Amino acid sequence: MLEFCQALPKIELHAHLNGSIRNSTIRELAASKGDAVGLAREDILKITEDGDRNLAECFRLFDLIHKVTTEHTTVTRITREVLQDFADDNVIYIEIRTTPKDNAKFGITKQSYLDSVLAGMEGYIHKGEGSKMMARLILSIDRRETTEQALATVKLAAAYKTKGVVGIDLSGNPSIGEWATFVPALRKAQQQGLKVTLHAGEVTNSTEIKSMLEMQPDRLGHVCTFTDDELESARDIPIELCPTSNLRTESVKSYGTHHFGKIYGRGMPVVLCTDDSGVFNTTLSKEYAIVADAFSMDEEAMLQLASKAVDYIFDASPNVRTVLKGKFSAAWMRWNASILSQGAPCRSEARKLGCMGRKPFGMSVAIFAVAAVCIVQAFART
Ligand SMILES: [Zn+2]
Repeated sequence: MLEFCQALPKIELHAHLNGSIRNSTIRELAASKGDAVGLAREDILKITEDGDRNLAECFRLFDLIHKVTTEHTTVTRITREVLQDFADDNVIYIEIRTTPKDNAKFGITKQSYLDSVLAGMEGYIHKGEGSKMMARLILSIDRRETTEQALATVKLAAAYKTKGVVGIDLSGNPSIGEWATFVPALRKAQQQGLKVTLHAGEVTNSTEIKSMLEMQPDRLGHVCTFTDDELESARDIPIELCPTSNLRTESVKSYGTHHFGKIYGRGMPVVLCTDDSGVFNTTLSKEYAIVADAFSMDEEAMLQLASKAVDYIFDASPNVRTVLKGKFSAAWMRWNASILSQGAPCRSEARKLGCMGRKPFGMSVAIFAVAAVCIVQAFART
């Protein structure tokens, strides 16, 4: 199934730039900074080694990332590399998110940081529609920020709407910050025509969840602690789910008990995402394969799940959606053709035509009939 998921075109809607950096790049940047990072070489190697991390190790890595991403050129480099990695994983559209920060010590402002990110996204924005992957940017408000800092991020996002910024996110340590602090900025974002996504329900906080839902965000992330009633209230809001992130941060006990099952089972809009692919040692393909395995979903179900994500992107341009739908239509046709080549027509059509199981049935009239029906279905699905 992993091989199938790697070949599947995918849409990534919840990926943090800093959490998606390659381990090798962090090692290299740390080495170039020498004593400035305050860690022995052995410690840096241990923190950045490939493999699954526990929660404490994830925090150590985030701390190191914070120390090595202090130059504009570094920000541009990591943006370029992260996008390259997603494109290599057959992601055809990504909304990467990052928190613009002022860092006076290194001469960085929120705006200069944003410019550095966009420099790394060159080739994936306006010129990107005919390329392998399109990229857009979501600016995050950190829960440690003040109302004024949050408003400054929204002002910046509004000014950069024509340059690839499509939305605002609220993220950071869920135990820090009061919801009321961020409401003026999030409301302002909505008034400015920016889309809004919120990290929600990472810790139990029914009062905050109620307020978040009242704001009617365009998407929600994680929703780990949502009760059945809260999920029902969020029924029409697309939800970004990141299974490995939730497992590593101990929000869920196992893949099999992940709330994807409940949300998908209710027919709610949902999109699989990576959150922090570098820190959690994952890819979007792996997340799809993990979910397929944990919930016994077949190729057709995974293709359907991936295709639906087009409806949840923040870029409102009809042209972008048309391009993406075209890529998924092609994927459906390839999949139907592969099923036919194995001798098993589309399930429903096979039953109608009396074809059983995966028995080869040769170059008969039936195969052409099934192929035609499957191709029509492929277009109808998208
Ligand atoms: Zn996140």
